[in-house]
Amino acid sequence: MPMTFAFDNSFHRTMEGFYAPAEAAPPPAPELLAFNRPLAEKLGLTLDASDEDLARLFSGGELPEGANPLAQAYAGHQFGHFSPQLGDGRALLLGEVVAPDGARFDIQLKGSGPTPFSRNGDGKAAVGPVLREYLVSEAMAAMDVPTTRSLAAVATGERVQRERAHPGAVLTRIAASHIRVGTFQFFAAHFGAEHLKQLADYSIERHFPDLADAPNPPLALLERVVALQCDLVARWLGIGFIHGVMNTDNVAISGETIDYGPCAFMDRFAAETVFSSIDANGRYSYARQPQIMHWNMARFAEALLPAIHAADEGGVEEAKAVVARIPDLFRTAWLARMRAKLGLEEAFEGEGALVDALFAELERHAVDFTGFFRALASLLRGDGGPLAALLPEPDAMAPWIADWWAAIEREGADPVARAGAMDAINPLYIPRNHLVEAALEAAEGGDMAPWFALLEVVQSPFVEREAWGDYAKPAPADSGPYITYCGT
Ligand code: AMP
Ligand code: MG
Ligand code: MG
Repeated sequence: MPMTFAFDNSFHRTMEGFYAPAEAAPPPAPELLAFNRPLAEKLGLTLDASDEDLARLFSGGELPEGANPLAQAYAGHQFGHFSPQLGDGRALLLGEVVAPDGARFDIQLKGSGPTPFSRNGDGKAAVGPVLREYLVSEAMAAMDVPTTRSLAAVATGERVQRERAHPGAVLTRIAASHIRVGTFQFFAAHFGAEHLKQLADYSIERHFPDLADAPNPPLALLERVVALQCDLVARWLGIGFIHGVMNTDNVAISGETIDYGPCAFMDRFAAETVFSSIDANGRYSYARQPQIMHWNMARFAEALLPAIHAADEGGVEEAKAVVARIPDLFRTAWLARMRAKLGLEEAFEGEGALVDALFAELERHAVDFTGFFRALASLLRGDGGPLAALLPEPDAMAPWIADWWAAIEREGADPVARAGAMDAINPLYIPRNHLVEAALEAAEGGDMAPWFALLEVVQSPFVEREAWGDYAKPAPADSGPYITYCGT
């Protein structure tokens, strides 16, 4: 029996005019590379299908019963410049499923061929970036970062031409929805308050039903999305994640991380780290992400203004106030995150200075960011070895460590218990750049084993296993600058 989906396609049914119907281009020779069975189960999909069936279904080779394939319209600020017409150029929304727990998810194929929004693009994706997104998004989910998920990766048997030819693939992406800040911008730019209200109402009903009775629902939506983005970016900073392309079309209003193109994790700490080949000015560097989130939320507020104004003229001033509060809101979220990472439970005077000093020290000594927080926990267990191994000299950070230790003691905490709490949120295994590259290179050559091994490791990021020792090591000292690319 083929796989069955309990589709309930609310976007298709109720949002006509917000999308264009589209079709997948059937691939010549679909072959299943990876399938996420635990996620399929969570979604309530029936599992008794052969790999061949799955490969056809998750590549556009066969349309599942009940799908209403469509491409969503959106606009967006890309590197600060407004593009009024983007849209799903290489993605196809098959529909929505309601999981057994009641949560609604989009099922989307990415790389299944051109749509009415493809402009000059081919609508295709290559195996390397598809497997990269699968791996990184699943790692993010395991690290408790809100994110789109990856259900399947299928090789198409076709070659896609970039600067050279690559084997093609389709990723099946699962998201709470694919509504973006850019979706609102599209309808603000081309239509007006009515369309924005409809989109805001739909978003509220789908994601934030508790806001339906707010006095000014679009304003309440803005406030909620701002809160989610502050939390999300604080989580990114906490694990050294650099998204790389925080354009407004890549900001999901659900608060999930979306669009794993040029993202990567920082090894040695440097605040201005950038990996993306096209981010020449460092607009989307590690440390700029909060400012860019603020800027993106200002664009979201602008797009919503006609609907906010229509609901209540006074709402416009309130919307400005919401945006003006973002730096404070973010710093509060970020400090809470950093406190937890440092094993501290209570806010205290001077915590900002302690955290700011930490980042200065990490940068000064080029410390491996991920390893550092695990090494701190080891220190609480009486083992200074891991920290010494990360530093140029064993006591390079002694004054800062003394201040942190004093803060732990002030809370009267049991050090070993705090070490356990730290290890439960500070990942030991992340998709380190050198590991990801080695896995993708092998996969492109037809050997998926290193990729599956790495996937297994990053899906259990917090619990140390002896056999995984190499996966926790910092990048080799001779590894050069790491460069990532969008859109391959
Ligand atoms: P991104 O940089 O991934 O956020 O994509 C920006 C825009 O380019 C979106 O509208 C994409 O749908 C579109 N796009 C990216 N790659 C392709 C492609 N190969 N074919 C068609 N459209 C694409
Ligand atoms: Mg995108
Ligand atoms: Mg992309």
